[in-house]
Amino acid sequence: MDPLVRLTQAAEERGLLAAWAPVELPPGVQARYQDWLAQGHQAGMAYLAEQAPTRLMPTRRFAWARSVLVLAASHAYPPPPKPFGGLRVGRVARYAWVRDYHHLLRPHLEALEGLAQSLGLEARGYVDTGPLSERSYAVLGGLGWVGRNAMLIRMGAGSYLTLAVLLTSAPLPEAPTPHPHRCGRCTRCLAGCPTGALLGDGTLDARLCISYWTIEHRGLVPLERWSGMGEWLFGCDVCQEVCPWNRRARTFWAGFTPEPELAYPDLRDFFTLSSRAFARKYAATAFLRPGRTRMARNALIVLSNLDHPELLPLARQAAGDVNPVVRATAAQALARHGLKAPLEPLLRDPEPQVAQLARGLLEALG
Ligand code: SF4
Ligand code: SF4
Repeated sequence: MDPLVRLTQAAEERGLLAAWAPVELPPGVQARYQDWLAQGHQAGMAYLAEQAPTRLMPTRRFAWARSVLVLAASHAYPPPPKPFGGLRVGRVARYAWVRDYHHLLRPHLEALEGLAQSLGLEARGYVDTGPLSERSYAVLGGLGWVGRNAMLIRMGAGSYLTLAVLLTSAPLPEAPTPHPHRCGRCTRCLAGCPTGALLGDGTLDARLCISYWTIEHRGLVPLERWSGMGEWLFGCDVCQEVCPWNRRARTFWAGFTPEPELAYPDLRDFFTLSSRAFARKYAATAFLRPGRTRMARNALIVLSNLDHPELLPLARQAAGDVNPVVRATAAQALARHGLKAPLEPLLRDPEPQVAQLARGLLEALG
């Protein structure tokens, strides 16, 4: 049997959507990405610019590559029940409700990699971690289109899709037909984005996106960004929630099991667990990317935005945290709510930048 057909069948037997695309990205796709980078839309994600040469021309690194098998799994699962007890406020992006999707898809990708090799091909798989443009390949392979919300959308499956790619040495007999754009005149995601991050052309400005600030940004979040973040503790799904293509999206992959403790984490964990205990409790979850300190930072911002009664006790506790970003965020939160007295101990903070921030905030409070 043709190796391409055999691999497609094997992927579909595993419940995944599959499509083939040529490894070369069209010049227009490459130029748009370079333009996006040149405008600084990647914010602090410097690795995107560093990886761009491989991303735009994978054959620089994988000279044998001729084609890409794009795989998609659905994470359009329903929310799990909310656990009792704990301080469970704020929202978590849907994809993070399961133990890390990289780990869950990896065995399937490895099996396909092994199958490709047994068929005499070279192959290398990536699950959302390699320097490859999964969405561009998905469009080129006819799997779906990139909507104005910057997500891959497939009719019947929506945009809650996890993508993986398998580079192979198999040449494609003919170029597949790219998927047509099906957003029509709809602009709901542009109107719904709380921070105006979507640029309307299927890309976004990460400097404005809540997902960037809550997951990728390492340091302090400037106060002017706080209110836009609303209740989002980790990521943001607004531009997918408002998309009509997600209303009737079916979950076609049963490999993900959403967990209540991930969909509704207890915010106190981020202030009371040691880094080691946090890593144990949230092992193999997307929360490990921001880690305990950034989750504590985000929790303070959410509690502040909600004007939650637990803000003051937690901010007081956080002012003595071992991490300077958490202490500085506590200072910002206390100042935002006009609380001068609990800010004063931070004037003697061992980290000069935190002490300086506290001084500036107290001066601004008068
Ligand atoms: S993830 Fe949220 S902030 Fe980012 S573009 Fe979508 S709606 Fe806007
Ligand atoms: S909300 Fe409308 S414009 Fe935005 S991605 Fe969905 S269909 Fe396209």
